[in-house]
Formats: sequence, structure tokens, C-alpha cells
Amino acid sequence: MEFKFGGSETNQKTVLGHPSGLFVLFFTEMWERFSYYGMRALLVLFLVSTLLDGGWAWERSEALQLYGLYTGLVYITPIFGGLIADKLLGYRNAIVVGALLMTLGHASMALEGITSIFFYLGLFLLIIGNGLFKPNISSMVGQLYKNQGKEKDAGYTIFYMGINAGAFLGILLCGYIGEKVGWHYGFGLAGIFMFFGMLQFYYAQKIFARIGLSPKGTVDFDDAIEDSIEEINDDLEEVVDEAKKSKVTRDRLIVIGVLAFFTIFFWWAFEQAGGSMTIFANDYTDRVLTGAGANTFKIVNTILTIVPMLIITWVLTMLFRQTFSKFALSNILLGTSFVIIWIIVIWMLVREFQSDQTDVPASWFGILNSFFIIAFAPLFSKIWQSKYNPTGPIKFAIGLILLGLGFGILAYGSMSIPLGAKTASVSMIFLILAYLFHTLGELCVSPVGLSYVSKLAPVKLVGMMFGVWFVANFIANWTAGITGSYIDPIVEEYGMTTFFLIFTLVPIGAGIIMIILNKTLLKMMHGIR
Ligand code: GLN
Repeated sequence: MEFKFGGSETNQKTVLGHPSGLFVLFFTEMWERFSYYGMRALLVLFLVSTLLDGGWAWERSEALQLYGLYTGLVYITPIFGGLIADKLLGYRNAIVVGALLMTLGHASMALEGITSIFFYLGLFLLIIGNGLFKPNISSMVGQLYKNQGKEKDAGYTIFYMGINAGAFLGILLCGYIGEKVGWHYGFGLAGIFMFFGMLQFYYAQKIFARIGLSPKGTVDFDDAIEDSIEEINDDLEEVVDEAKKSKVTRDRLIVIGVLAFFTIFFWWAFEQAGGSMTIFANDYTDRVLTGAGANTFKIVNTILTIVPMLIITWVLTMLFRQTFSKFALSNILLGTSFVIIWIIVIWMLVREFQSDQTDVPASWFGILNSFFIIAFAPLFSKIWQSKYNPTGPIKFAIGLILLGLGFGILAYGSMSIPLGAKTASVSMIFLILAYLFHTLGELCVSPVGLSYVSKLAPVKLVGMMFGVWFVANFIANWTAGITGSYIDPIVEEYGMTTFFLIFTLVPIGAGIIMIILNKTLLKMMHGIR
């Protein structure tokens, strides 16, 4: 009998209509993003906090530069990670090795108190590990489906939910524990779940049958690299020839270039989240709540935490039902990670209910992005399926404008901050609304990214165009840190409002240009939507 999906017989058993292997990838990615975003939430806060508070007492500018470099470099290594998996290791091995390196990276960071070298070694391992992990787990999702189309797109949407569920829990818990208990514990917690994610994946691998196995039996690193460079050159020559011939290919490649260029503006502003916006949350936002305010926050925070936890636990039980008989060990390891996470969640919520005053952690605001994604994604996909489905460039433009408006709210909220102030007590409503607008923007931009690249590029150039896309993300994240690092001199000379106006006006300007370019870009896509 012909199988409907790729992979083993067990993979044919479905969860929510999708192959059960999708959920193995979902939970692996969930724990990886837990670790990535959990650590990202703490990085800048840890670096700038005083020695007395266990931090490194860095200047804001230094911390934001390191933040930019780190979050940028995690997008450079995937170019090589994808190549190594394709030619050498196979996707599955690359994912396991990447996850192991990241586990060691988090462990190393947790030992930062012994010597600072461990901290930098940790960052290095995370950058390398991410390169092997992220591109390859993403392409395995696609390989579960036999043909392109709606089902595969839906598979990626579910996977995106895994990303955000992980980011949500990671920022919530690593952030809370890092800020309130101790930085090492926060960093360490990120590592523990990365490890569980890896084990869970490792022991469930057979569910994928031949998907993601290493391409060759034996492996010679130098040969493989040489081969792939030759192959790329050949492909490039061929495509350049054809492009000369075909205006269509050339036009489509230009469209990818334009989209990649505008993508830089989006993530450049968006990635202020773990950088200057975290500084703003820490030092310029009133995070102390008492009385009715504290009670409201406790109740909202409890619902915000428990509801997503219940949903993913429910998904977990469905996966168990389909795969426990064949992959008990993997299931038990995953189940154990869930027991631990539930214990931590309940401990945190009870601890908060016991105190009269609530000190909202500065990292807490970061959870709003992933929470709003999970909450609004269904609504947005309904809108895109209705007659109100704008073209890709218009969606992109709306996303940029919403992002800019989010920063406009922060600029407005900052008007009471005096020139050069190092602290202030602005209401937290501004940050909450900013994150809401940023997320609405992300929901417009995210469908236009990688799927457009894969549709517009000629098959032979898809890999390379993904590379272009990653480089755009690198530039965006890196320059996000660099721009953020000027926060102090800008606040001194022009004020906080001006600082946030930069991130208001540039994306809105980019969005308007995109609207103007819409018709031209559509023509140049030659029928691809
Ligand atoms: N939030 C998504 C992730 O972490 C996308 C981030 C991005 O493309 N820069 O995977």
C-alpha cells in the first residue's frame, strides 16, 4: 500500500490530521526555542545588572552590541549547517549534533560564575549548534508531506505554533528564574530543556524512516565541501545562462532581493525586543503593582500561562496515543520534561499569589509576542483566506507600518522621560500595546517570507536564496544591536521619544515605499502569488 505521508508506518497515524512525526519535530523545536528565547530574554539584563546583583555591570552600549552580534551570527551558521546536512551528515544527525552543542552551550553559560570564558564558549557553541539545528529541522517538516500545497503549509503553521509555544514558556520561566532566583539558574534551565528536546528526538527518529538520513555511507569532509562548491558553481553558471535567456527568472530573483532588503528593516526594528525594549522594560517602566493592580495581574498572568500549557499538554497526549507503543522511551522523556515544566509553572504562580506586591520581571513583556501570535494566528489566516487577501508586498507593507506604529506608542509613552534620564516609571501599558502592534505586524510579514522565496526561486537556486534570506536576517539582527547601543547618547541629547521615533519612521517609510512598489513587484513575479 502506498503511504500518504513520507516516513514510517507510525508516521501515517495522524494527530490533528497531520503525520505524527510532525509533532516529534514540533516538540523538539519547542524546547529548542524555549532555550533560545529564554536565554535571549536574560542576556542583556544579565550583562547590565550590577556586580552586587550577580551581573557583569556592563555599559548598555556594550551589552547591546554583544546582543546584536550573537542574535546576528545565529543566522550566518545555518547557511553552512544546511550544506553540511545536505552533503555530509544528513538532516537527522545534524539536528542531534546541533542540539547537543546547544545543550553544552547553555551548560557552559550556566557556569559563567567560575570564569567568564565559559560564558563566551557558551555563546560560541549556541551559534554553531543553531546553525546545524534550525535550517535542518525546518526542512524536515516539509519532507513529511509528499506534495506541495495546503496541507504542507498547514504543517508549517503548526510548527510555527511550536516555535512560539517554546518562546513563550522559555521567556516566562527562564526570565522569572533568572531575574528572581539567579542568572545561572535561568541559563541552566534553558539547557535542561534543550537536552530533553534532543533526547526526545533522538529516540523517536525511526518514525521518519528514510527521511533525513545521511546522504552517503562514508563521509569525507573535504571532498564533500569541494563537491558542493563545484555543484554550486555549475548551477550558478547554468542559471545565469538561463537568466540571460529568461527575463522571468531574472525578474523573480530581483523580487526576492527586494523582499530580502525590506525584511532587514522589519527585523532591525523588531529585534529591539530583547535589546533596547528590554532595557526600557527594566529601567524606564513601572513594574511594581500593589492592591487591585497586583491581583488583576496575578489572575491575568495565571490564565495566560495555564491556557497555553493545557493546550500543548493536550497535543502531547494525542501524540502519545499514536506513538507510545513504538516509541515509549521518547514519549517518556518528553512526558518527564512536561512534568518538570508543570511543577515550575505551578511553583511560580503559587509564589506570586503568596506575596502582596507584584514585581513584574523585565523579561515578562517578551512573552506577549508569542502569546499574541498564538492568540491571533487563527484570525489572520481566516482573513487571508477570505476576499480580504492582499498581495504579498502589501501584506509586507502593512506589517512594517504596524511595527512602526508600535514604536510610535512607545515614543508617545516616553514623552515624560527627561533628557538623559537613566531610569523612569512609565506605565506598562505602552510596552504591552507596542508588543501587540509588533505581533500584528509579524503576522502580516511571516507568510511572505520563506515560502515566497521557495516559490520564486528556480529549483536549483532555492538553497542559495535561503542563504540570501539568512544573510538579510543577520544584517537586521546585528544592526538592531548596533543601533540600540546608541540609546544612551540619543536619550541624553534628544530624549527617549526620539530614540523610539527612529524605529517608528523608518519602518513606516519602508512600508510606504513597498506600497508604491507593489504593482511593479507583482508584474515581476510573473504569476506567482
Ligand atoms: N520567531 C521566529 C523564530 O524564532 C522567526 C524569527 C525570524 O525570522 N527572525 O523562528
